[in-house]
Amino acid sequence: MSFVFPPRETIHAPILGCDETFPIRRIYCVGRNYAAHAKEMGADLREPPCFFIKDADAYAPSGATIAYPPATADYHYETELVVAIGAEGFNLAPAAASGLIFGYAVGLDMTRRDLQGAAKKAGLPWETGKNFPEAAPLGLITPAAKAGEIGAAQIALLVNGVERQNSAIADMIWSVPEIIAHLSKAYVLKPGDLIFTGTPEGVGPVNVGDRLCGQIS
Ligand code: MN
Repeated sequence: MSFVFPPRETIHAPILGCDETFPIRRIYCVGRNYAAHAKEMGADLREPPCFFIKDADAYAPSGATIAYPPATADYHYETELVVAIGAEGFNLAPAAASGLIFGYAVGLDMTRRDLQGAAKKAGLPWETGKNFPEAAPLGLITPAAKAGEIGAAQIALLVNGVERQNSAIADMIWSVPEIIAHLSKAYVLKPGDLIFTGTPEGVGPVNVGDRLCGQIS
């Protein structure tokens, strides 16, 4: 097989304590998954989970310096628990979901909030607000066996050393197994998929030069 130009290289993320890396396939994201954040965005809590997708080239490694993106004047952070999928699954019950989980990471669902807001208002897709290069910075992937009980963890974000987000993972509207079950009704989940599981309250704008440090206990 030869190509008219070189194909994109496989985008991959490092794994804690492992020399092999995690090849990224699709990046799924959940919108509105913490009550307090849904409220700050003016959403209805009783809706089923809403999903959107970022291209794999939205990945940026931990420690990267990322560019302020074009076409926005309101670039926002959203700190999220990310689930790394390591096995195939379709049409799963929540009880079967954990079998797909390779590991967990902390991620940032970077958002052009002004473009997302305009799209919402017009009933249009969120694409330009959510899916662009470097819009999904991701920390090291921790294998599930080393991560402990993720449902009991705390998620936080420091901006220039000042805490801007802090919530219990247990405050999610839809738990990790429920998210995987819902998503698997619409898509065949495959190894290499990442799922950003939604942000807690406290989202806000990013300025040039800011240092963002996401943490999950
Ligand atoms: Mn998000």
